[in-house]
Amino acid sequence: MAWASDNVRHSSNSSPDSGRLVVVSGPSGVGKSSVVEGLASRVPFRFSVSVTTRAPRPDEVEGVDYTFVDEKRFREMVAGDELLEWAQYSDKLYGTPRAAVAEFLAAGHDVVLDIENRGAAQIRESHPEAILIFVAPPSLDELERRLKARGNTRDVEKRLAVASEQITSAQALYDHIVVNDDLDTAICDIADILARPGRLGHASEDAQETPS
Ligand code: 5GP
Repeated sequence: MAWASDNVRHSSNSSPDSGRLVVVSGPSGVGKSSVVEGLASRVPFRFSVSVTTRAPRPDEVEGVDYTFVDEKRFREMVAGDELLEWAQYSDKLYGTPRAAVAEFLAAGHDVVLDIENRGAAQIRESHPEAILIFVAPPSLDELERRLKARGNTRDVEKRLAVASEQITSAQALYDHIVVNDDLDTAICDIADILARPGRLGHASEDAQETPS
């Protein structure tokens, strides 16, 4: 693939028994949620339930998809350093609760975060050993088609411009870029990445290091 990448970083600051922090990010409309959902049937992990100030969608369940809070509560969480990372997206606030992630990791579970790219950058800063995966569309034309198919006709141009920027800068931030052309293949690709023994924080002799 033109934008395929496989940069592996090594770090030594996590306990050998703790789980791995895995970030799955990518442009709006690329199918991140479907990828994470599909991944759940292949590999064991805990999903980090984010807090958000946006309203629940009809099919969403409190505490499963998100914890829905008002802006006052969200700001309190920021002030109290309760969030591992947070960002504003489409005028709403989203963040990853620190305590739940720490608990899962300490119990030895891998933890998957489905977050946007500024959150991913914050995780890279605070947890250099985290595995950052960028889910890319096969092309911007296909991304446009998917965005329109899911009813996003209003700000498609803006989303495509943001996506284009994200794709260009993805190589510098992410360890792996997985192209979601076919959903099952993308899920398998991520499962393969997570199955590798030479993981970040547990560098093995045979892991390949590619400076990014
Ligand atoms: P949606 O409102 O469609 O569920 O999510 C909008 C965007 O927010 C998606 O790109 C999603 O990955 C991102 N997002 C969800 N939770 C978090 C979070 O806790 N932190 C950050 N930075 N982004 C999040």
